[in-house]
Amino acid sequence: MDRNFSAVYPGSFDPPTNGHLDIITRASNLFPNIIVAVTDNVNKRHTFALQERIDLLRKSTKYFKNVEVLSFSGLLADYLKKINSFVLIRGLRALSDFEYEFQMALMNRKLNKKIETIFLTPDQSYTFLSSSMVKEIAMLGGSAKTFVPKCVELELKKRFRNR
Ligand code: ADP
Repeated sequence: MDRNFSAVYPGSFDPPTNGHLDIITRASNLFPNIIVAVTDNVNKRHTFALQERIDLLRKSTKYFKNVEVLSFSGLLADYLKKINSFVLIRGLRALSDFEYEFQMALMNRKLNKKIETIFLTPDQSYTFLSSSMVKEIAMLGGSAKTFVPKCVELELKKRFRNR
């Protein structure tokens, strides 16, 4: 086995939150290299464009030596094969995440039997946090300051200023 492999943390990150960063921190302590893989899914409507989500994640993770931010399109199982990785990281907040995540993990294993999905739980204070909730707060004129990195807070302010 290549001991220098990368574990992949995929997601929409629309936008990145402190919950995502909590998972990235935990993963970066466990694995030699982490690729945060931003989904470029044309069928999904995103608030932030792919390049914006990548830039926000790169800014938020610049102090991690073993974290790289990339993007992918198409099937995650194919992407893992392409980059020769077999470890997927996902965050599990609550029971409500479980069914979807369980289904995804089994489906990815069906598509590529080498893939193992590792679930990490964030600090308790982030278990209620989601990108959609953060956007909702910003849209309604509230401050997302305690929930997101500084660069995301500024971007949310800019985006929803005129509403
Ligand atoms: P996706 O569309 O792939 O679910 P998200 O950006 O919503 O993309 O989530 C990416 C991953 O991060 C998922 O595994 C999700 O469960 C996890 N995640 C999202 N928010 C949090 C949080 N507050 N704490 C821990 N994990 C989280």
